[in-house]
Amino acid sequence: MQHLYLHIPFCHRRCSYCDFNTYANLEDRIEAYVAALCAELALLPVPPAPPAERAADGVLTSATLRPTIFFGGGTPSMLTLPQLERILQAADRLVPVQQAEVSLEANPGTLLGADTPALDYLRGLLSLGIRRLSLGVQTLHDPLLRVLGRTHTAAEAKQTYLLARQAGFENISLDFMFGLPGQTFADWQAVVDALIAWQPDHLSAYSLILEERTPLFAQVTSGRISVPDDDLAGAMYEHAIEQLALAGYQHYEISNWAQASTQPKLAPRVPAYACQHNLAYWLNSDYLAAGAGAHGHIYPYRYYDILNVDAYIHAVQQGQRPIAETIDLSHADLCAETMFMGLRLHAGVSRTHFAQRCGVELDATYGDTLAQLAAQGLLAHDAHAVYLTARGRNLGNRVFEHFV
Ligand code: SF4
Repeated sequence: MQHLYLHIPFCHRRCSYCDFNTYANLEDRIEAYVAALCAELALLPVPPAPPAERAADGVLTSATLRPTIFFGGGTPSMLTLPQLERILQAADRLVPVQQAEVSLEANPGTLLGADTPALDYLRGLLSLGIRRLSLGVQTLHDPLLRVLGRTHTAAEAKQTYLLARQAGFENISLDFMFGLPGQTFADWQAVVDALIAWQPDHLSAYSLILEERTPLFAQVTSGRISVPDDDLAGAMYEHAIEQLALAGYQHYEISNWAQASTQPKLAPRVPAYACQHNLAYWLNSDYLAAGAGAHGHIYPYRYYDILNVDAYIHAVQQGQRPIAETIDLSHADLCAETMFMGLRLHAGVSRTHFAQRCGVELDATYGDTLAQLAAQGLLAHDAHAVYLTARGRNLGNRVFEHFV
């Protein structure tokens, strides 16, 4: 287990659809928060060394992943370079920074116009070992960006992307959403055309989820604005699948694509630019987490930290681990989660991985269920793995509920 999630719960402004644990107008707490985060990292247990065994070529298991550190949020790009450097120094005892895939989520709205020129900031990230940038673009239609409450325009998002390339980033992921209020199929076609022209290394595209307690939810339920129906949102998703495949992107997870692997013998089922950190989640691997509201998973338990920023800082200042709750996991939970997380991957769940993670054979545990789902055309298998068919991906929830 050499994966670490770091939560940075600050944003300049709350987006209208967001229900993450993040806060606006708390910039004056950032310095104290960084100190607390470093102190929490000093309290975390050092993870065991990764297993020595390697899987057969092309079979995806926890042991085939690189170590990872992921700065998520919130808006990690609100932190200064010295603050990020202190956090990485504190994280290095847990996950070796120089060997890790280190990702940072960035908001184009915070990079441009900040005290440090964007190009200098981006070069600084690289010099700290942060080599993967995840840019939240969401859409390229300015009126829609305003409805979403984003702090940037489409032109600023593109400018940030180009600056990141100029700085030397060779691993950039872009986040998009579809099914947005008032979005037409033609709007989405234009977005897909544009993002293909940008040639990012990795893409995430999620259908908008209306979360209760968000301003957007209230606007939609009161009838002030409307969102595309399921059929239109489904057509948008299918369009992305078709066009991204034609453009050479490998669709490796339900909502994620990456440039196809140039080393097919090493990993034919997973593209070279697949996000190693998110693969750890989908493989149901163990990972540490630190920061307000951050969720960690170390079988046989998962935990999450105190959500409130001030309460989090206070707990750490008292020398305590700032855990809000610890949830015990049974062996049945481990097997079920390994299945329904892993089936999100097009590579599916490998028998090797399941046996290594759960200590029991996949077919002995789920043989009847797998046969039933295969008979319904929802699941297929080969010598290495079981995976969803195209029909199974469309009816994913029907498959996943068999394992819950
Ligand atoms: S920038 Fe991201 S984390 Fe912050 S409010 Fe918007 S969606 Fe939420």
